[in-house]
Amino acid sequence: MNIRFKTRLPWPLSFSFARAIQNPAMEIWAGDVSNTAAAQAALLKRGMGNQAAREGLYSREWMMDAATVSHNEAVRPVTASLQHQAKVLKRKKYVFGNWKMNTNEAKAKSLAAAIVQGMPLDQSMQVAVFPPFPYLSVVRESLCASGIALGAQNLYPASEGAFTGEVSPGMLLDVGCQYVLLGHSERRQLLTETDAFINQKVRQALAAGLSVVLCIGESLQQRETQQTQQVLDAQLIAGLAGVNSADMQGVIIAYEPLWAIGKQGQQASPKQVQQEQHLIRQRISQMFGQASAESLVVLYGGSVNPDNAAGIFNTLGLDGVLIGADSLNAEQFLAIIQAGVNALVV
Ligand code: PEP
Repeated sequence: MNIRFKTRLPWPLSFSFARAIQNPAMEIWAGDVSNTAAAQAALLKRGMGNQAAREGLYSREWMMDAATVSHNEAVRPVTASLQHQAKVLKRKKYVFGNWKMNTNEAKAKSLAAAIVQGMPLDQSMQVAVFPPFPYLSVVRESLCASGIALGAQNLYPASEGAFTGEVSPGMLLDVGCQYVLLGHSERRQLLTETDAFINQKVRQALAAGLSVVLCIGESLQQRETQQTQQVLDAQLIAGLAGVNSADMQGVIIAYEPLWAIGKQGQQASPKQVQQEQHLIRQRISQMFGQASAESLVVLYGGSVNPDNAAGIFNTLGLDGVLIGADSLNAEQFLAIIQAGVNALVV
């Protein structure tokens, strides 16, 4: 259910952490202190299996196998395999491609097909593309069953009505979108979108069941005058006003410093990205609690390319990247995805 209906579930789908989860560990322990370690390993394995299922990643390897958990001798291999599984499960990596106002129908189709064709088989990567509105349907067809998700670049914060030229959250769901990009700096600047308007969109999108990628970032002048924290805080506070901690599961924050976007010659260093993602998590923790801050997916966007992707992916606390220009070239985009796959095994 978490795989198939994730974007449409009105609530998080989890477990009742009761007897069924504790039983294997209780049976192994059986009141004998010498069984403690094996019982703990079994409980940990069950917990991690549930985490995997919660994320739509459950597979046979998480099943409770009596032969591997009922003897003390089995503790070491179980623990080793748990460490391995913990590494694999540690966190998903994200690569999102914003095509902006580029491509035409034929190019959109062939770009999507080329990405599907070269996509590495790796369940720990979440890849999504954000084509222009008119090509969402053709791209959806090309992406079919590839595991690559579809996103839109904007929406209007109303379900229907007299809003000429606008697109509702329901329409995006209808054409197969899972994500919507909101608060992109180009829209903030060119269309003077305010935080208050972006916030209306965020709330409508979440209420409809779309996942939101909320873009925030400071200008060069704001950075140089030490206002970065203040700017990011203000954008988070205003952009997420009225959102509750359960809704935060559907929110991804993309940190996109304006001075680094669009190949202007500058890009943020991994150290700067690490600092800003930390500030973002701090603010989210204050607003929604520690658990939301820890599970929050934070992306970086700004001139990411195959050459600098590895450094960005290995930035502590960062979950992935939002790509502009290089998402329009399948080879470059796939090379960035591969950098994400490689980062998982480090
Ligand atoms: C963007 O505009 O969101 C972006 C990240 O662009 P680029 O990768 O081209 O800097």
